[in-house]
Amino acid sequence: MKACVFTVGCKQNEAESASLMRGLEDLGYETTAELSRADLYLLNTCAVTAEAERKSRQAVARMRKFNPEAPVIVFGCAAQHDAEAFLGKEGVRCVFGAMHKDRVLDAVREGMASVGPAEAETAFCELPMPKDVRTRAFLRVQDGCNRFCSYCLIPYLRGRSRSRKMERVVEEAQACRAREIVLTGIDLSSYCDGDRDLGDLVYALRTLPARVRLGSLEVGIVTDEFLQKVKAAGNVAPHFHLSLQSGSTKVLREMNRRYTREDYLAACRRIYALFPDAAITTDIIVGFPTETEEDFQSSLSIVGEAAFARVHAFPFSPREGTAAAKRKDLPARVKRERMARMLEVCKAAEAAYAQRFLGRTLTALFEEDGGGYTENYIRVVCENANEGGMYEVRLLEMGEGGVRAEIVKEI
Ligand code: SF4
Repeated sequence: MKACVFTVGCKQNEAESASLMRGLEDLGYETTAELSRADLYLLNTCAVTAEAERKSRQAVARMRKFNPEAPVIVFGCAAQHDAEAFLGKEGVRCVFGAMHKDRVLDAVREGMASVGPAEAETAFCELPMPKDVRTRAFLRVQDGCNRFCSYCLIPYLRGRSRSRKMERVVEEAQACRAREIVLTGIDLSSYCDGDRDLGDLVYALRTLPARVRLGSLEVGIVTDEFLQKVKAAGNVAPHFHLSLQSGSTKVLREMNRRYTREDYLAACRRIYALFPDAAITTDIIVGFPTETEEDFQSSLSIVGEAAFARVHAFPFSPREGTAAAKRKDLPARVKRERMARMLEVCKAAEAAYAQRFLGRTLTALFEEDGGGYTENYIRVVCENANEGGMYEVRLLEMGEGGVRAEIVKEI
């Protein structure tokens, strides 16, 4: 029997899907993450934007095309947000909210008779350890969020912040044979186990043979104390994904982001002081309802000032039920035009960052088709690199699909 676990959305969803695949294998299923013919479909949905929700709904129809007889179990943020949109669809046998992913495997075991309740979850939802990943494994350490940014539905969908016991995380990381472990969470910065925080968790993972990469961080955590712990661990990739969302202090306030442009830039300076080659990557929302041309200019200018290595820019999309959705949306034409300008600036910043490393030797972990990522998140392409291989590579020249590199030696 074959089961397809299809994922829409973030790294946290990918990590959860990987765990569920492992659980399905224990139940005797052969699993795949690719949409293909299967006897059972699991759909891990996303509601971060209207587009993500549309993709989630569309996935059910795509599954039905591969096998109209196979049952579909839908779960995750879009299912939590609008269960009705899935319950009525042909083939859908169960719908679980984002807080009840641990019940998905029970439903498979029990013949898919139940529909998940939607009460709030306060404990960390444990899932099976991901299956035997050799290259990069995503390790869930935290879930939920207490921040209530004005544009975001996540706190309503995933519930309040909760963290996994540090001992459990360390145990799972030690058992994992991946070359790189990415720590993920919806609000990773709020990780805590008693009085131990994310810095303590990172330090506790210092003896792993794997490279550790941090998932998305919030500005507030970037203190000298935290960075010192990261540095002392010695095995953490110098890559900090520091969510920005807007370069304008006024818009940040309206987004309820609780930091200013200056706070953000000060955090970047602290990172660069300790990790001069660090990649700082970020997310930027373009066209928030109150964003003026001047505010947008602030978002454009911070891309160069912070010297971002990579930016995920996306247009504002109102999410019903949030404070920002009550404000008048900007015309689509304005958002489109600003997005085009933003993408151009981001592309130039990304190229400028990668160019700094031409001629230098970095460590890269290769995934597939000869493509991989260096410790500071530069995409490199290299002939003769094996999938799952870690190499010292010399960066040669900018190219399509990544910087062209040559192998110096295997590690
Ligand atoms: S920090 Fe803000 S944007 Fe991120 S999940 Fe929490 S509420 Fe949403």
